[in-house]
Order: sequence, then structure tokens, then C-alpha cells
Amino acid sequence: MRSTPSIFDDWKDRELDEILEIVRGVVEDPEYSTVRQWRERGGKVVGHFQVYFPEEIVHAAGLLPLKICGAQVEGVEAESHFGSYLCSIIKTSLELALTRKVELEMFVTHPICDAARNLGAIWGRNFPYKSQILYLPQNPNSSHAVPYLRAEYRRVLDDIEEIAGHPVSGNDLRRSIGVYNEGRALMRELYAIKRDTPWLIAADEAYVLVALAGILPREQFNTLMRAVLPMIRQRPLKAQDKMRVVFEGGFCEQPPIDLLHAIARSCYVVDDDLMIGLRWIVEDVPQSDDPLGDLAWAYVNNSSYSPVQHDSRKPKERMLLERIKRSRADLAIITAAKMCEPGLEEQVTYHRALDEQGIPYFISEFEENQTSFEHLAIQLETFVENLLFS
Ligand code: SF4
Repeated sequence: MRSTPSIFDDWKDRELDEILEIVRGVVEDPEYSTVRQWRERGGKVVGHFQVYFPEEIVHAAGLLPLKICGAQVEGVEAESHFGSYLCSIIKTSLELALTRKVELEMFVTHPICDAARNLGAIWGRNFPYKSQILYLPQNPNSSHAVPYLRAEYRRVLDDIEEIAGHPVSGNDLRRSIGVYNEGRALMRELYAIKRDTPWLIAADEAYVLVALAGILPREQFNTLMRAVLPMIRQRPLKAQDKMRVVFEGGFCEQPPIDLLHAIARSCYVVDDDLMIGLRWIVEDVPQSDDPLGDLAWAYVNNSSYSPVQHDSRKPKERMLLERIKRSRADLAIITAAKMCEPGLEEQVTYHRALDEQGIPYFISEFEENQTSFEHLAIQLETFVENLLFS
């Protein structure tokens, strides 16, 4: 069994507030220092673009899967590769690689939208390593979806094995599925705390903990979460008179952490779709004698929803209403990244469904590089006060 070198120990023996600050530092670090350390110790890295990627197949080969989800950097180098009418995450993701802040052995993207599909070819032209597109099933309702996806995972795994320099066995895959099942269970526990006792963990604090899973080797993420969750439960904080809100629109480009902090000043975010790819599979993946098949089955049949997956069993508006009901939210914040076609399109469906149900909602847009939040904070505060006192 391969052991993973520890690349993030600074949090150990510290108080919860300090740990959360350190974790935020890692998540916002544009130099990806932990990934650099991994490489300095001989580790290899496979970067995968938003939204969902089966990280287990990279982990099973002993490589580091790294979620590529933009950054708060200027897209100076990347600007010349794209038109100006695109979302920011596409440009800043490429910028990270062009400026060598992130170095990879392979990159994988998905045809979730035109921009992300084209990113594969642009990446491939600029770097010597493989740039792949993982074609998740267009029609998850087809009886062929699971075998098709299993074959897609096998195709990508062939490239991963080549980089690793050794084959990946069924046992390797099952072991990784076990590690990731634990990580997903820990994230579900965090979300249960958000839902049941939201005064114990603010939206921005929960966000950085989940985002860490996209950067660290998953065992190290699990160790941190096992230590941190009991600390959160024991926090000496009291419930305040704040409205419970669902935040929808963070499935791909991520809002700045300070924006989440501004929202948390006036609301309790009791559920959201932030970094949904890391939480896509909602229950444990089975560990049978066909682990690739198990992963494919879980993607299709045991998963969340987003505007870039079209599953007739999961109409997005119904899923949003269920999320609101399950989390006992009073209102929704319906948002989308600027220039994100799939996200903006979905807003229309969402606001119709919310109108029909008489659920109040606040609509906005964001950009990962946004630096001013006062205006939004005041608008939201006024909106919430109107609801509270009407
Ligand atoms: S933010 Fe929207 S438009 Fe941009 S890559 Fe993601 S899904 Fe595509």
C-alpha cells in the first residue's frame, strides 16, 4: 500500500479559529504551495476542471487529483487565448498553468459548456502533457449510461496508468473509493451542522473546509475533518435571529470567500451548491468486484444536480425546492457567475418555481475576482429586514 507524504501539518495542535484561518490561506494561496510540496517530494499531479471528476481513479494510481477551479489572479497571460465574453474561471484556470503556479502531468476537462469544452484544446496546445476531455453521459437516463461511463473512466485511467508508470488494480480502486467515501461522509456531517445548528459554522468557514478537499490528498483532508468537526460542535456560540437561506449558483465558478462572508453577516446559509462536484455523490459508493462500474453507477444514480447535467429524474427547479425544504430555509439566493450561460439560463426556471411556491428569493451575479461586496451586503440586508418585519 502506497503512503502519501504529508504536505499540510500546520493546523495540528491549534484552536479552531486558527485552523480555519490557516485553511483559508491554503485555499486562497495562488502559488498552490501544498501542491508544490507534493511535487518536490516526487509526486505527480492530474488537474481536472469543474464540475465533477472521479478523483478516485487518480488517487488509486498514487497521483494527486487537483481541482482546477480558477483563482483570484489577473488573467493577463490567458487573455490572449480567449475572447473577452467568457466567464472568469476559464481564463484564470489557464492563467495558473501558463504562469506555472500550477504544474501538472495531465489535465482533464469536460464538455459542460462551450467554454470548458474548448479549454481542452487550448490547454493541449500550450503544454507538453496530455489534455483530455472526459465525456460524462449526455443522457444519464439511458440504460447505456453506466456501461458507457465505465468505459470512459477506463479510457482516462489508461492515461493515468501511463503517467504513474504502473497498472492500477481493483484493490487500489476499492481502497481509494473507501478513502473518498469517508471524505464525503465527513462533508455530509459538516452540512448537517450547517443545517441543524448554522450558528456554529459560517458560510465562508464551511466553504474553505470543503474546498480544501480539492487541493489536499484526501487522507489528509479526512484527518483534518475528523479533528475539526467535534471542535465545531463544541463552539460556544449562540443562535442569532437570522434568516435561513439556500445559496444556489456556485456549481462551477466560485464566488469570492469575502462575498460568502458578507452574506453570512445577515443570513445563515443552511445549504448550497458550492463545490458541488466534490459532494456530487450523495451516499457511499459500493465497493464490489467492479470498482469502475461502481463509480459510474454512483455518478448516474446516486448523485446531486447542477445546471450542466441534464437528467429528467432531477428537474433542477424541483431539486432546488427540495433543497430548500430539506434545509428548512426561509429564502433562496439565486446567483450565477458573470457570462455563465448554463447558470444564467437556470435562473429563469428557478425564479418561476420559487414564485409559484411563494418562496422569497434574492437574485444576483458574481465574479471570482470581485473585490467589493458592500453594495451586495446592504441590498441583501435590506431584503432580509423587509422580510423579517413585513
Ligand atoms: S462558469 Fe459557466 S460558462 Fe464558465 S466554465 Fe463554468 S459552466 Fe461554463
